[in-house]
Amino acid sequence: MPIERHSGIIAHAITVDVEDWYHVCGYVPAQERIRHQERVEQAVGLVLELLQTCGVRGTFFMLGSVAQQHPDLAPRIAADGHELASHGWSHRLVTGLSAEEFRAELVRTADLLEQQTGRRPFGFRAPRWSLSRETTPWAFDILAEQGYRYDSSLTPLAAIGNPRGPRNPHWIATSSCSGIWELPPLVTSTPFGNLPTGGGWGFRFFPNWFIRHTVQAYQHQGLPGVLFVHPREVDPHGPRLDLGLFRGFVAYGCRTSAAHRLTALLRGFAFKPLGEVVEAWQTVS
Ligand SMILES: [Zn+2]
Repeated sequence: MPIERHSGIIAHAITVDVEDWYHVCGYVPAQERIRHQERVEQAVGLVLELLQTCGVRGTFFMLGSVAQQHPDLAPRIAADGHELASHGWSHRLVTGLSAEEFRAELVRTADLLEQQTGRRPFGFRAPRWSLSRETTPWAFDILAEQGYRYDSSLTPLAAIGNPRGPRNPHWIATSSCSGIWELPPLVTSTPFGNLPTGGGWGFRFFPNWFIRHTVQAYQHQGLPGVLFVHPREVDPHGPRLDLGLFRGFVAYGCRTSAAHRLTALLRGFAFKPLGEVVEAWQTVS
């Protein structure tokens, strides 16, 4: 079993799930009405500008269907020096896919990204963290089989993940190949459980100092903090689905604060693309 340890200075990672304002909670758009309001290019432009201002390279988990609809998007992201990874094709939850459908989504997205940018992705994140060692163990086998070196889908949170799951990068052995690294998103540990401070509504809602303190705590423990953002979160005037009070807040609440918060963190810590963070960890037999 590999021993997990890191070498060199700890770098954290900013990751972007590249999807449009309506790709929420596994929602798959059917109406042309929604397609006419596409905003992803504009919102990704805001993220790219922010990262460039801070001199940070990140990882962009591309939805294959978005890359197909906006063929200039992935090349534009790659041209800025960022890593392209896969967010699947349709934004359907992995728990709702068969093994064959999951494999087909991975291959279709990787083929398209390779065709558009010349590079095949080797990192994956499932829509809404819908991967688990209990319910979709076959998915890790397929990821390894398809040449993926890391996954970033296992969030240590109640309701949408495993609250007792590890916060550190760890190795997941697979049956068909040797295995795959797992890099969970950052959370804040409290006596009441883990809080979702690494991205989404928690990142936009909890006080700045609280999130900064968490990143510092990860750093002191020698762990990379994996932050995540959706383009719609830095686009406060973008459209929103009518999801009701709670789900509406989770998807769109406090959007005016995200860009400022992100800028402060990106300037305060060292960041690298997630693929490079994985390489900084050594596997010793
Ligand atoms: Zn997503």
